[in-house]
Amino acid sequence: MSSADDRRNVRAGYRHGGATVQGCVQNVHSSHPSLNDSLDEEIQAFLTDEDQLHTYDDLTKVNPVTPTTVLKCLQARYSVKVFYTHAGCTLIALNPFQPVPDLYSLDVMKEYHYASQPQEFKPHIFIVAEEAYRNIQGQLEPVNQSLVVSGESGAGKTWTSRCLMKYYATVAASSSVMKSQDTVERIEKRVLDSNPIMEAFGNACTLRNNNSSRFGKYIQLQLDRCQLLVGASVQTYLLEKTRVTCQPASERNFHVFYQMMKGATDEQRKEWKMPHDQRFAWLPNSEKTIEEDCFDETVEAMVHLGIHAERQQQIFRILAGILQLGNVSFSSTTDESHPCNLGGQSKDFLQRAAELLCVPAEELQTCLRVRTLKAGKQSVLKPCSQAECSVRRDCLAKLIYAQLFEWLVTFINNSICADKSMWCNFIGVLDVYGFECFQINNLEQLCINYANEKLQQHFVAHYLRAQQEEYVSEGLQWSFIKYQDNQSCLDLIEGSPVSVFSLLNEESRLNRVSDAKMFRVRLEKELCDNANISWDKFSKVPHFTVAHYAGKVNYQIEGMVEKNKDPVPAELINLLEKSDNPLLREIFTDKTTENPTNRGLSKVTVVSKFKNSLESLMKILHTTTPHYTRCIKPNPDCKPLTFKKEEVIMQLEACGIVETIHISAAGFPIRIPFESFMQRYGLIVKYSKAGSHSVDLEADSSDALQLEVKKLLAVALHRLSSDKHSSLVHCGRTKVFLTQAMLDLLEDQRKKI
Ligand code: ATP
Ligand code: MG
Repeated sequence: MSSADDRRNVRAGYRHGGATVQGCVQNVHSSHPSLNDSLDEEIQAFLTDEDQLHTYDDLTKVNPVTPTTVLKCLQARYSVKVFYTHAGCTLIALNPFQPVPDLYSLDVMKEYHYASQPQEFKPHIFIVAEEAYRNIQGQLEPVNQSLVVSGESGAGKTWTSRCLMKYYATVAASSSVMKSQDTVERIEKRVLDSNPIMEAFGNACTLRNNNSSRFGKYIQLQLDRCQLLVGASVQTYLLEKTRVTCQPASERNFHVFYQMMKGATDEQRKEWKMPHDQRFAWLPNSEKTIEEDCFDETVEAMVHLGIHAERQQQIFRILAGILQLGNVSFSSTTDESHPCNLGGQSKDFLQRAAELLCVPAEELQTCLRVRTLKAGKQSVLKPCSQAECSVRRDCLAKLIYAQLFEWLVTFINNSICADKSMWCNFIGVLDVYGFECFQINNLEQLCINYANEKLQQHFVAHYLRAQQEEYVSEGLQWSFIKYQDNQSCLDLIEGSPVSVFSLLNEESRLNRVSDAKMFRVRLEKELCDNANISWDKFSKVPHFTVAHYAGKVNYQIEGMVEKNKDPVPAELINLLEKSDNPLLREIFTDKTTENPTNRGLSKVTVVSKFKNSLESLMKILHTTTPHYTRCIKPNPDCKPLTFKKEEVIMQLEACGIVETIHISAAGFPIRIPFESFMQRYGLIVKYSKAGSHSVDLEADSSDALQLEVKKLLAVALHRLSSDKHSSLVHCGRTKVFLTQAMLDLLEDQRKKI
């Protein structure tokens, strides 16, 4: 192997263990002496050199590292259209909010892929992609890789994930073809085609992002022994199904509904009972047209993945049926022993919904308006109140949509997943919702923020532990960076025996209507020992506040227990099982046969299910080498090339970027095994006029090698004729530990020879 290769692997090794470290580093400044004296002056001095600020490819080279200096560098880079910057082990990606075609072309992909040292190229998401790809070759343990893309809504996570997938679909393209019933498509194309389908069904236009993902996704790209892409599998997390029936003001439902409305042919409109002038209650803001309203693209992707025309029809009829349901409203009756009336044109809408869902209209009507209570062997029928009828209608719609989404994911997996015998390694791409903090936060935000806490903990522990363990094994004198991880916040949310989740589950199991005030008192009583939770006792709306690593969030208690129960009346499932729509019947029959005792759907609470799926994800992440990309949204209005300092600084703080840079800068991010070091830099001594030093480039015993390396370093430092550089390099037991600055100096010396 060439020394260049060696060095590449070493650097790839350095990036082993990406992390952002928030609030966990103590003593950062003292590990960086210059920061202690007259910091302000230094900041000013640094910022004076304005023309240079955009040249900092890696923020670990910024001196001093402060929020201001880091921010100014990023701003300067953004203003000259440089969107990527290294921050030690993390890549920062600023969203340009406009197409930058030349940045992602095939030629650029090739450039990074075929470069002997891509790290020396301009920072780019392709560097991260290429490093992960090369790590798969096996110099590092573990060989499987994870690319974790994080950031707030609209920051560019999904865009970046797609970009990564395209990169692998290009550089790792195999020649194999997979056959399906009515089409033959290359596997790379199929993997990419899973994106438009999942986005049509799982993304929506929100206030923060026209194409906001309303679910989390981990996709594993499967590579064979020759590192060719032979398949993929997708795991999804917590689809925001409430959006089907309830869209926040100025936001929209999932894209697919609008795509149908806008893209259907006249014939389809007739079949789906969607005339041009029909208004649907669950399709607000349909006058707004966005790039994602592209029905043809979704259908085309379905065809490529092998969803045949008949199946597509079944899917779209189900969706059309959901829309009709949304127009059904109920009016109350004075006589409580009678079911609610159907208001206005609701009878027609209900009739159409029944036709599209292929269920008997009478039964649908009964299911929505009458509850069956079981008392022993006897069943009692009880009319529902107006509000209860609406809840049942919404529940039916959400249930159908969520199960349809799950079916699609399973279908996609069946279509793109390679047989286990065909692949040996994977690169996982994680695109999960970032930390959320709205005016009103509910169970969804609690789950999302819990997921972010979990990821944060993983990366802090992984990064610091990996770094510090290596220092110990190499016998380096290193004043350990102490860090408090966010365990206490996680204990508060998910711990045992008592935590917010455990109390929520307990309350959900009780067969009673939950009272928000009482539940708040219970939380306070049981969790008062945890410093991460607090209450405003005087607030009219019962809530609790959690101090997350990224900030404090108020969670509203009202409705939380009910959301956690996510109850599904058995009558609804019974109805859907009987549907003449083969897909609907398949989806619900499968569920009920799987678990006939609890009708398959209702018993596991939302938080238990989410916790389990997240734990499986963490297990997988622990077996991989992570690479971390932090997407930043430079302005809240998604305006092209607009950089709002306050917005950016908040995001940098929330992910602890400054601390991450400190750790990377204070440590020795580059580690080169003695052999490679001697091969590459031995010449410095050989041609040195520094005097009596001579170096045995062939030294083989490890002690002898270490001695040689020490000699070499002495010469190199002597040539630099400065003592201050000695702190930039350390000689371990098998490797040389260097800062980036020292590496650059050595490279300079080498070039001069
Ligand atoms: P959410 O959490 O809401 O799903 P997100 O982080 O996934 O948000 P994206 O949907 O990936 O955000 O990005 C928002 C928009 O920003 C994209 O639709 C695209 O227009 C633009 N964008 C993001 N990254 C880039 C890029 N590198 N180049 C050009 N445009 C980009
Ligand atoms: Mg997204």
